[in-house]
Amino acid sequence: MNQLKETGLVERIVVSSSKAQLASREFQNETSVVEVGKARFGAEKIVVIAGPCSVEGREQLLEAALAAKKNGASMLRGGVFKPRTSPYDFQGLGEAGLKLLAEAREETGLPVVTEVLEPEKVDLVSKYSDMLQIGARNVQNFALLRAVGKSRRPAILKRGMMTTIDEWLQAAEYILLEGNQNVVLCERGIRTFETATRNTLDLAAVPVLRKATHLPIVVDPSHATGSRELIAPMAKAAVAAGTDGLMIEMHPTPELALSDSQQQLDLAEFAVLMQELESVAKAVGRRIR
Ligand code: PEP
Ligand code: MN
Repeated sequence: MNQLKETGLVERIVVSSSKAQLASREFQNETSVVEVGKARFGAEKIVVIAGPCSVEGREQLLEAALAAKKNGASMLRGGVFKPRTSPYDFQGLGEAGLKLLAEAREETGLPVVTEVLEPEKVDLVSKYSDMLQIGARNVQNFALLRAVGKSRRPAILKRGMMTTIDEWLQAAEYILLEGNQNVVLCERGIRTFETATRNTLDLAAVPVLRKATHLPIVVDPSHATGSRELIAPMAKAAVAAGTDGLMIEMHPTPELALSDSQQQLDLAEFAVLMQELESVAKAVGRRIR
């Protein structure tokens, strides 16, 4: 190995027994900062990604986007290819929705993130969005992970409902291995025996990941709890636990939403939450705005 180093062609040799070595702190000690426009995951300011579960139309999206911007969110979300449990449920607006996301970015200056469901759609989604989301149901879709890796687009990889932290890091490794270093992990709850919440938010994952990996961490209390009144307490707890970002679903009229109606904050609730998060962030040496 020393001979290899002496060639001058090799900068550093890391011996690792980890199967997620590129993601590990062994490989890189300092936390990565992943930049998406002006949003910087892993920096002092906590990146709040806000927006509706699904893009439903121009007015709905622009209203949500303007409220996200006004209240200090750093990114806009909105699904256009929706992974729905039932094929009879709203599947998303597809490319028309992507165009609306691009328009909302134009209007607010907020970078946008949206989910990509298939490797064949990576180019299309990349054309309109600043960050690609790989959803919980696709965490071990290896063809998709590789395609997102090849695209070199910043990616947010959600934890699967039944994925251990170790399996999740190995999934991230697929993206990193293709040369894409811009990977952010998102804890969104796992399936347990508990039925009082939609999923069980594993907040211990935040400090566990912090120790294991240099990749920035986001928490999504919306999908983790499935219920509007649990978003604020769990978002605060996530900030206290050291998250680098939050993903929060909000909608101008949640009761009329075409997906995840029970868990989306209305715009006033979102504004209050952003206020309240400020002091929690300050207590742990971070800021929201
Ligand atoms: C989403 O964020 O739109 C989503 C479908 O989340 P998850 O993959 O975590 O269920
Ligand atoms: Mn949703």
